[in-house]
Amino acid sequence: MKKVNQLQQALLSWFAANARPLPWREQYLSYQVWVSEIMLQQTQAERGVVYFKRWMAHFPDVVSLAAATEDEILKCWEGLGYYSRARNLHAAAKRVVQVHGGKLPDTLAALEALPGIGKYTARAILSIAFQQDSPVVDGNVERLFARLFAIDEPVKKAAGQSRIWGLAEALLPLGQAREWNQALMECGALVCVRGTPRCELCPVTAECESFSTGTTGARPVVEGGKKIVQVRLVAAVVVDDSGRVYVRQRPANVRWANMWEFPDLEITESAQPLKAVVGLFKKGASRSLDGFLPLTTVNHKYTRYQATVHPFLCRLRGAFSGKLQQEEQPCRWVTLEELNSLAFSSGHRQIIDYLPEFLPEQKI
Ligand code: SF4
Repeated sequence: MKKVNQLQQALLSWFAANARPLPWREQYLSYQVWVSEIMLQQTQAERGVVYFKRWMAHFPDVVSLAAATEDEILKCWEGLGYYSRARNLHAAAKRVVQVHGGKLPDTLAALEALPGIGKYTARAILSIAFQQDSPVVDGNVERLFARLFAIDEPVKKAAGQSRIWGLAEALLPLGQAREWNQALMECGALVCVRGTPRCELCPVTAECESFSTGTTGARPVVEGGKKIVQVRLVAAVVVDDSGRVYVRQRPANVRWANMWEFPDLEITESAQPLKAVVGLFKKGASRSLDGFLPLTTVNHKYTRYQATVHPFLCRLRGAFSGKLQQEEQPCRWVTLEELNSLAFSSGHRQIIDYLPEFLPEQKI
């Protein structure tokens, strides 16, 4: 028990002195805590802060979020990836307005019934926003506990999860869940980091079993991690005589649903990008296209994919009134300025970022 008290005091004092001044920590409003928890899944806190501030400027509360259009939501989320998080936030906000009178509920069952809120997020909201004695375990807590308590079960497997959740429950100092849970996650994020932990800065070296045995590098044990899949694509930025760019909208039932993109195509490892990009267009259309200048190479990581995109810039000569491609997706000709008002995946957004410099130089 003495050891538990020491551990709790060490981490709580460390958090009081070292907590990052993140905007959702200013008032701990439940809506802000909820949005921050969703945004910080798969996103570094520093990057999350930029998006969080932008989000709050557009959708300061549940009611404004519920009233927004999907296009507005996606545009505001653009670049963060995992767009289902934004769609779920939107759907959940509508439900909170319809069912809970615009107030985020403060029970586990009601929170877990909302789209996008799972075991971790519900407990994070309960403890951080509503100060209920609810334990949390995220990747940072898994790593911290695996090293602190020399856990050799793979942390993502059932036995490892059960041990870690059990510890989170047992160690929680009653009445201090808000600070304690954040202290664990903050220590994992800043000190007991992935790779080489920064033990020289750690408030709990005295209690750490891996530190005392010189085995910090052996934990956490991870098994069955996802393999990264390499993919290659070509994309075409088609510009007409008036400088407008051709874009199409993705279907509703695929990744990056309803977002915008340049025509693109996945190619094999041995395929010739130039040949592939010309083949993107209908026969009649490709006769009106020329140029096909390689722009740059864009590297883009999403879920377990590492994509390399080869974008080409080409010009549509003269008046071509038909569709450039076979498929039935909605398409538009837009100015560079209008491109910025549409939501694109981060891979295609990287291509857009490159265009303002490139287009004038090429006098297109
Ligand atoms: S002493 Fe090192 S390994 Fe142990 S919890 Fe602290 S940072 Fe992690």
